[in-house]
Amino acid sequence: MIRWELVVALCLIAPVWAGEADSLARAIRENSFDREECYRVRDLTLAIEDIKIYLTDGHLIFSRPVGGRRIAAVFVADVEGGDAEVILLPPDRAERRSLASYIHSPNLDEHFRTGMFLFTGGTYDAILAQLPSNPTNRRTPEIGALLEEQFTPVLRNLSASYQTRLVLDLLNHAEGGEAVFASVLESANLGAFDLVYDPLRAEPIIAGQMTSRDNRLFLDAWTSFKTRSMRKETAPRPPDLALSGYRIEAAIGGDLELKATTRVKVRPSHSGLRAVPFDISPLMTVTSVTVDGRAAEVLQRESPRGNAMRSGNEMFLVAPAEPLAAGRDYEFVFEHSGKVVFDTGDRVLFVTARGNWYPLHGLQFATYDLTFRHPKDLDLVAPGELVETRADGDGRVTRFRTRSSIRFAGFNLGNYARARAERGGYVVEVCANRALQRDLKPQSALPMRDVITTQSSRRLGEVMSGPFPATAPNPLDRLQEIATGVAAALEFMAARFGPPALNHLTVSPIPGTFGQGFPGLIYLSTLSYLKSAPHSIGSGVQPQELFFQQLLQAHETAHQWWGNRVTTGSYRDNWMMEALANYSALLYLEKTTGAHSVDLMLDTYRTELLAKGESGQPVESAGPITMGTRLESSQDPGAWRSITYGKGTWIIHMLRRYLGDQRFFAMLVEVLKRYDHQEISTEDFRRVVARFTPPKSDDADLETFFDSWVYGTGIPTLKMSYSVKGKAPALRLVGTVTQTDVERDFAALVPVEIHVAGSPTTTQWIRCGSEPATFSVALKQPPSRVTLDPDRAVLRR
Ligand SMILES: [Zn+2]
Repeated sequence: MIRWELVVALCLIAPVWAGEADSLARAIRENSFDREECYRVRDLTLAIEDIKIYLTDGHLIFSRPVGGRRIAAVFVADVEGGDAEVILLPPDRAERRSLASYIHSPNLDEHFRTGMFLFTGGTYDAILAQLPSNPTNRRTPEIGALLEEQFTPVLRNLSASYQTRLVLDLLNHAEGGEAVFASVLESANLGAFDLVYDPLRAEPIIAGQMTSRDNRLFLDAWTSFKTRSMRKETAPRPPDLALSGYRIEAAIGGDLELKATTRVKVRPSHSGLRAVPFDISPLMTVTSVTVDGRAAEVLQRESPRGNAMRSGNEMFLVAPAEPLAAGRDYEFVFEHSGKVVFDTGDRVLFVTARGNWYPLHGLQFATYDLTFRHPKDLDLVAPGELVETRADGDGRVTRFRTRSSIRFAGFNLGNYARARAERGGYVVEVCANRALQRDLKPQSALPMRDVITTQSSRRLGEVMSGPFPATAPNPLDRLQEIATGVAAALEFMAARFGPPALNHLTVSPIPGTFGQGFPGLIYLSTLSYLKSAPHSIGSGVQPQELFFQQLLQAHETAHQWWGNRVTTGSYRDNWMMEALANYSALLYLEKTTGAHSVDLMLDTYRTELLAKGESGQPVESAGPITMGTRLESSQDPGAWRSITYGKGTWIIHMLRRYLGDQRFFAMLVEVLKRYDHQEISTEDFRRVVARFTPPKSDDADLETFFDSWVYGTGIPTLKMSYSVKGKAPALRLVGTVTQTDVERDFAALVPVEIHVAGSPTTTQWIRCGSEPATFSVALKQPPSRVTLDPDRAVLRR
């Protein structure tokens, strides 16, 4: 029925400008330089917010117009003494350090010989206006003919990557600060590098370089920051489109191809938009879109360069028949299909978690009504309550609905055995594959390895490297154990943090060495379902076993709060969700298995952080934790994981020791209450934690702590010496703590425990610095023991 309406709508409306996005995209891909628009240029300046480009001496040629605008130019310093220069000064220390780690200079001040520019704003007019200022500047069509031939193929190559982004601006007539400016500059020192201003990004300015390493492509973000005008703004910008009320009908065929109709309400915050962007996995093709029943144009292309930072998603555009009006709700209906489910053999399935399987516009809280038609030998799980499941011909129909808003709806399917556990009003359902994944069988071929490796090395999963010892594995071994364990963890956390994102939690297996915590749905590594082998070396629990059998499931459970109730909006803040989820999991382990589990994991993390990276420096020195996924660079791809999970866990643990348990738990509750269904920034977090510091704290606002551990790098070596002076009962304990191996402004807060026979133990917190920190305590009798940091209160060497 609906389909017929669609067909009718398509036939009746056929807007006059249908295909405009597509024809613009084609014009961009087929654009060429215009020999008639070539100039000998001297002393031209291009200024876009913080970016300054000086075209000192050379030739500049513009492209032919696309949609009435000239949108590209190339500069070549092909004259005697020819030169150009770019200057970009990162606004803060962390960004200057990041830049320096790549180019050995805290500021980008680079001379270049060639520069290719793509732009949708007034760059052409701005340059033309400057031409009369120097008598050398004149039109040079004869040089233009050469440059046109030489650079048109380069232009087409670059334009293909940016076409969706450029079309968006051209359709929306972006002007001034709304318009994108992208450049690729080539210098003798640095080779070719990218410098981009994209106002759609939260940090519009980015300089970096595409590099490949071990067959993997990296966009090394040298520096990324907000523009000077944004840095003056106080209020965050509202989303340009608010999405709500998702209704998705999906069909998964026998070939595991997924075909879906996604309906969602869309409310624009400003009027006149002729095209709006959405994100989806490149594995999905959006075949058609209607807006309030009228056919809209869809533009979807592959563009690796423009989207390398978009975490496995690609931008596509929807151009409705009429420009959108602010404040009105529109119903967008997307038809999309693709392969996001893979069979690793024997009906052990893998659902890709790297990109979105349905269209999103940022991560926004929305309710979901999800209906799946799927092969009847497969079980399907998704977030929310199971509304119905019934046989339907040769398949099955299963429907879920979420009562509260969530930010993302995943799903999983397989030939499952199930176990159920209920505790404290929460239902946990655990699904396990009936068959063993082929690559876990002895001597099997490993057909899925690279898919799994690519998956697990991405940001979404929790990863622990290394083989897992398992003999005679059976994927149902731990089914009931996981159900009981997750239910107990859920109950433990709910008692401390309040209710989770949803009352019903489903746990399902995913091939690979990672897990993921969607609201109401957890992906748990298939390794977590196996019983471990007897320990080959020594006795006692091993970190890997602890990870797969206990920590991973508790960690993903904790994401029901951290990441799905309280959320973050920036890659710079995501570390908190991982650190808090991981620490919550350790708190649960501490209760169930004892404090030694926590100690074991903290020690494992410390070893990883202090291990020498490829630069010869400790892995931890790759950059501050707030650099987030930018730490997953070609310099040391593993640094992101060690720092986010390992150092993140240590940061939360150090706060716990400094605050004391009672204040620490009260702080966690306050964060969840204050930021429920909201985004928290690292600075917001610091301010909440600071309210819980003990009276007379040496670092009451925690600025020193955050500057050292969160915004900075370094793991100190701490040494203590002391002596006792005077005669009882007028003794004085005098000591110093020396901090080394960190920069001068690093300041660790470290406890010194003083034991006196017959008296309660006292603790002095010492604030270290570049000079030895002294302390002096009056005692009535000599101490029996004075210990520096006896209980892992500080991450130190
Ligand atoms: Zn996590």
